[in-house]
Amino acid sequence: MRHLAIALALGLVIVSGANARSASFDPDPVFPVGPISDTTSHQIAKLDRVASRLAGRRTTVNCWSLRDWTRLDAWRGTHHYPRAMGITYPDDHQIDLSPFICEVLGQALARSANQPLFTAYAVTVLAHESAHASGISAENQAECRAIQTDTRAARLLGLPSALAMRIPHIYRGTIYPYDEQRYRTPVCHPGLPGVVVPDTLGPTAELRPFERIAAAAAQSLRGWKNDGGADAVGPLSPCSVVRSRTEEQVRFGESFYGPHGERLISSSIRFHNRQEFAVARVRQQTLERCDIALGNHLNREFGSPWRFSGVAHRGRSRASHGSGCSGSFRQTAGTSGTTTESRGSTPPTSASQN
Ligand SMILES: [Zn+2]
Repeated sequence: MRHLAIALALGLVIVSGANARSASFDPDPVFPVGPISDTTSHQIAKLDRVASRLAGRRTTVNCWSLRDWTRLDAWRGTHHYPRAMGITYPDDHQIDLSPFICEVLGQALARSANQPLFTAYAVTVLAHESAHASGISAENQAECRAIQTDTRAARLLGLPSALAMRIPHIYRGTIYPYDEQRYRTPVCHPGLPGVVVPDTLGPTAELRPFERIAAAAAQSLRGWKNDGGADAVGPLSPCSVVRSRTEEQVRFGESFYGPHGERLISSSIRFHNRQEFAVARVRQQTLERCDIALGNHLNREFGSPWRFSGVAHRGRSRASHGSGCSGSFRQTAGTSGTTTESRGSTPPTSASQN
């Protein structure tokens, strides 16, 4: 099982009021075979084949719709199960995956996006659940097995060989070091420090201009550590200017740590059309207010100091304490913009698009 600390909190925001309807909810339904869709839950034949090969036994993979997964989250909450990115029923040889993981796997299957970081995360979740389906119950053994089978999983999904070989390296260097202790084992050690993989989406050629923007922004942050895009892995915050990752045609994001604990997350996004861009601009204007309201909600729910990064990792968050945020969103080509979110005591220099 893969779960998320902050997703738990966000789930409470999203599903508030759904519990009353969860009494008749079936958490283990049979879905028809179909395509990956965020509006209709399906069993996914292509993922069945990958999971079955990895698990060494016939295994089915369900991709839940956003609505159904939200109801499942609510049901699990009322039954004291943790929220999850993936769930395996070993006796039934069945894997249930969240809409976020399925969205990324769908893009990987379609080879429609260049996003090694997100792909590494989603492939590892599938490999992790497949390890459970093979009979491995211990989380750290399933996680280690997932890392060891990442390349095979990626190849089975049809990813290019060069990327398939990079997947475990990317995962071990960016995400695995922040795994909860119970997911880690000395046999599978973290990757080398300094692995930096930006948060990307889109064809390589279209990413290049955005890479140049990010490089210019990074030059203004002397003494700051580039942490790549690992903070971006996870479902979108309810406050995000992007409502769905399917809105994004191209995305390039990086995060930085300042010398005094400052935090800066920079994202450049090109939307498919002007309408989506216009909506994003409006949401950008309410981002601060939404962030603060969300932070206050988390305070009330969990009684802890505001810790919010807009990012979720399963098991724990790399969020830093924050007391405010600032942002900019500048239009240049009509459908693209750069957002810069900073959190910390010293507002850093904003990134901007030339
Ligand atoms: Zn697990």
